[in-house]
Amino acid sequence: MNGLFRWLRDTLWPARCVGCSLVSTDLCAACRHTLPDAPAIRILPDGTRVISGGPIAHPLLAQAIWRMKYRSIRSLAAPLACWLADTILRTPEAARAIRTTILLVPVPLHHARMRERGYNQAHLLAHALAGIAAMPCAAEALIRVRHTASQVETADRNGRIENMREAFDCPDPSVVRGLAILLIDDVCTTGATLQDCARTLRAAGARSVTALTLARG
Ligand SMILES: [Zn+2]
Repeated sequence: MNGLFRWLRDTLWPARCVGCSLVSTDLCAACRHTLPDAPAIRILPDGTRVISGGPIAHPLLAQAIWRMKYRSIRSLAAPLACWLADTILRTPEAARAIRTTILLVPVPLHHARMRERGYNQAHLLAHALAGIAAMPCAAEALIRVRHTASQVETADRNGRIENMREAFDCPDPSVVRGLAILLIDDVCTTGATLQDCARTLRAAGARSVTALTLARG
């Protein structure tokens, strides 16, 4: 969405709270307080810890994420990041895991998706969280690429599917080398994407990788 369209939209249809439709705010304080206070830590098969703010089954959380992601309501990233920071800081184990990290890295979008959507919701969240936590954010640390290995190199159909999967690359390892990374995304469902990102960051020399998401599927 370009700037002119956004200006027109904001003028003709001012922001309304995703919870109660109150005008002039994307998520009012009263509705923010009804978001779940249920952070959880999950360990993925590769050992990566994923801290998530609440279940995606929570209607207001799901609706807020959906609007941020698919309705171009970029300004929802700030109140969602505030809620996430509040809720995880009240959970000692999650707070400890996050305090030991020193660089925020958002899960990237593929450049084709980025062109289509115009922004990366994980980057918006990471940027907002970086402001709250006074931590640096390296938006370009990871890029999403597509495997394009020739099919003659693969023996069977599963191999071909594997080779068509998106993968990640760390174009400048010096950005992450030796650092404890907090990987940011909106939702963790299977955890496969987070594991792929974590593997790439570790291969590039990151000291540790913990993931933080708004919701868990
Ligand atoms: Zn509200």
